[in-house]
Amino acid sequence: MSEPIVKFQDVHKSFGDVKVLKGIDLEIKPAEKVAVIGPSGSGKTTIIRMLMTLEEPTAGDIIVGDQNLWKMEKNGNMIEANDKHLREIRGDIGMVFQHFNLFPHMTILENCMTAPIHVKKESKESARKHSIEMLEKVGLGDKLDNYPSQLSGGQKQRVAMARALVMRPKVMLFDEVTSALDPELVGEVLEVIRDIAKDGEMAMILVTHEMDFALDVADKVLFLDEGVIAEQGTASDVIEHSKNERLQSFLKRFR
Ligand code: ADP
Repeated sequence: MSEPIVKFQDVHKSFGDVKVLKGIDLEIKPAEKVAVIGPSGSGKTTIIRMLMTLEEPTAGDIIVGDQNLWKMEKNGNMIEANDKHLREIRGDIGMVFQHFNLFPHMTILENCMTAPIHVKKESKESARKHSIEMLEKVGLGDKLDNYPSQLSGGQKQRVAMARALVMRPKVMLFDEVTSALDPELVGEVLEVIRDIAKDGEMAMILVTHEMDFALDVADKVLFLDEGVIAEQGTASDVIEHSKNERLQSFLKRFR
């Protein structure tokens, strides 16, 4: 059995008096695709944001690879990984946001080339070659010199994916990547994620409201509710066969 690439150990998160996460234990194996579902406000994005070090857990440990990203000391203080480890961990994690976050003044090729050149110190030629490869993979090989403003929302989201893939992350985080899109553009973006998932090597954490998509792509589904993982299992176990009443009533909204 391979070691987990991401591990949460009894992770808690409060905002002021509001306890959002109340003890999350989670292991994600290399190449595993995990969908996170749950009501709005259940803490799905908070889980992703802690992995991106955009939020600090209130308690618990988060481990990426063999490094502690967040570690709780015996006295309860939270320690973040040191700068060197943080750089390594950040290199292992890619993210696609709900709102694309592309650089508007750069062409889509430049959008993809920036991080490999500046963060990974790749040569311009190698970054260019790899970026073109990834843009072709997401079906945008004919748009290299376009600016984000010239693209549809679905195309922008596909650029955001190519930009994350160029960094060759071990884990990709997708936070409701289709929820800001017009309904007719959702399919093309999900199709690209399915395609990336088939390549197999990367672990993926997908926060999504697309249940058919989760059924299709996810090896494991987590139902987050009232601060805990209230149900987990194969996509079919959780989405089609669970007896959990809160989960059933949550799922009813998508039928
Ligand atoms: P989800 O992604 O499941 O909709 P979130 O992780 O975005 O849930 O949010 C979980 C809860 O934490 C919500 O009640 C939200 O209002 C609260 N929350 C998230 N971020 C902050 C913040 N920076 N300050 C205060 N409350 C926050």
